[in-house]
Amino acid sequence: MSEHNQSRKLTLADYCHKFAALKVSQRKQGEAPYKPILLLSVIDLISQGLIRENCIPVSDDLVNTFNKYWKIIGNPAYDGGLHYPFFHLQSDSFWYIKPKPDFNGLQPKTLNKLKQAVDYAKLDDELFDFLLDQNSRKELLDTLIATWFYESQKKLDNLLMINQDFEKQTGEECESYTYSNYQENNRKKFQLKKSLVREAFFRKTIIHIYDYQCAFCRLKAVRSISQTMVDGAHIKPISLFYNSKIDNGISFCKNHHWAFDRGWFTIDENYKIVVASNLQEISPNAKPIKDFHGESIFLPNSEVYFPSQESLSWHKNNIFKA
Ligand SMILES: [Zn+2]
Repeated sequence: MSEHNQSRKLTLADYCHKFAALKVSQRKQGEAPYKPILLLSVIDLISQGLIRENCIPVSDDLVNTFNKYWKIIGNPAYDGGLHYPFFHLQSDSFWYIKPKPDFNGLQPKTLNKLKQAVDYAKLDDELFDFLLDQNSRKELLDTLIATWFYESQKKLDNLLMINQDFEKQTGEECESYTYSNYQENNRKKFQLKKSLVREAFFRKTIIHIYDYQCAFCRLKAVRSISQTMVDGAHIKPISLFYNSKIDNGISFCKNHHWAFDRGWFTIDENYKIVVASNLQEISPNAKPIKDFHGESIFLPNSEVYFPSQESLSWHKNNIFKA
């Protein structure tokens, strides 16, 4: 049960609503997304297995993760700093601080003061359980990203940077680590590549670039900011390549995503659809897959976001079954 009085158990939808309605300070410099970035950081650490219990200390992992996201998608008009949201998220009634005995209850002014003032924070137990579960975690993450990081082109550019920056960071880490750091380096590299938050940004960015349409059939069906029938898909599978660069992405509706992943069709070097010859289809109410053979896919506005020839040809040679 939660620490505050609730007449009923809160559902996943309730927490999605709370994530979309965070009390974020708005001043003339614009929104200060401290709280969304703190939650992203916590989710990132949970998904990497670095937070396993509902007890969130001001750890180096948390500080570093927060700073990493703040640098890319924070508002540069504010100075940033984990100590703000770690304290103020209490006002959104699912985050609680366990103070040290002599804490005066006032906002700690620096990170060090925060560390001196609090033992740890905890979430509603229900919410923490949702964050441990892969599917509900994905929904909460999508809500957070769609609500707080998607309303301007500037932010989209920053989101694209998340992927590029992380790729770069992974490479830099390799170079700067000495042999004795090898194992540690591999662990970090692995975690960075496996970051669920990064994957969520990838999916959202791809869908956004394709204007929420399926590149194959142009279906666009959106119910809310976090519910759409279109997926941001990897051309070369994430499980094999960990490649979340934008040009390894393409947006497909659920059906065509499924068919693409199984090689029922591919895309040639001129961005034209090539359909396998042996499909058995009856589709009285929608255009059959085989009728798309030879048509051009729907492409993003800017050529820099087009699927890379390298990824497409890998798919054609390794997944597609003519
Ligand atoms: Zn489609």
